[in-house]
Amino acid sequence: MSGPSAPSVPPLPPYGPYRQDCPWCGSRRLRARLRGDGPRQGAPRRSPVERCADCRHVFRNPPLTPAARNSVLRAGVRFRHALAARAMLRRRPDPESWLDVGTGDADFPSAARAYFPYTSFDGLDPTPRVLRAREAERVEEAFVGRLTDPHIEARLRERYDVVSLVQYLEQVADPRAELRGALRVLRPGGHLLVDVADPRRLFPVHPVGLNAELVAQGCTVLTGARAQRVIARKDASVA
Ligand SMILES: [Zn+2]
Repeated sequence: MSGPSAPSVPPLPPYGPYRQDCPWCGSRRLRARLRGDGPRQGAPRRSPVERCADCRHVFRNPPLTPAARNSVLRAGVRFRHALAARAMLRRRPDPESWLDVGTGDADFPSAARAYFPYTSFDGLDPTPRVLRAREAERVEEAFVGRLTDPHIEARLRERYDVVSLVQYLEQVADPRAELRGALRVLRPGGHLLVDVADPRRLFPVHPVGLNAELVAQGCTVLTGARAQRVIARKDASVA
């Protein structure tokens, strides 16, 4: 008989229980698509992907717990932020001043700083979260408001080498007005970064879309017609 062993706290399982049925249609005809690393004994190291033979729904089984799913989502956001920063680095490696619009807690400037250690990042957001971000030294200057606010425009006009709108335009009521505001706070020769899931669907009443709007506003679009990250250079002053 061994003595009392130190009680160990079991780790939180990263996956929920295995499902016998399709979460979409309830069918039990499930087919593994990717195999996990030897399941059965203890927790599997990763969740295999299964496909329903009836409705073709594809899902992780066992599913991730909500906490694990959130951490996967956060990792995805960090990855997108890094890709956006690197896309700008190829076109504009040494900006002095950068405004991130709709910055929230300044997650994007925090990620971009790894690629632009000598750049001064400011943040603009409609909420006071940006003030907390400044207190946490995630941005140097914080502005509460929108690009379309006259006091913001008057203060920031032609001040920045780079302006970024990362998953922002698709959330605002008047994306075209915000886009023009972003161009007004850029210096001539400055670079605009717009990261959207599908830039062609931003302006549903304007079928030629984001790139055409940028050209109409005096910019040269440096990315392809279908890019999810649009980078444009402002060639002239915008009225
Ligand atoms: Zn199904």
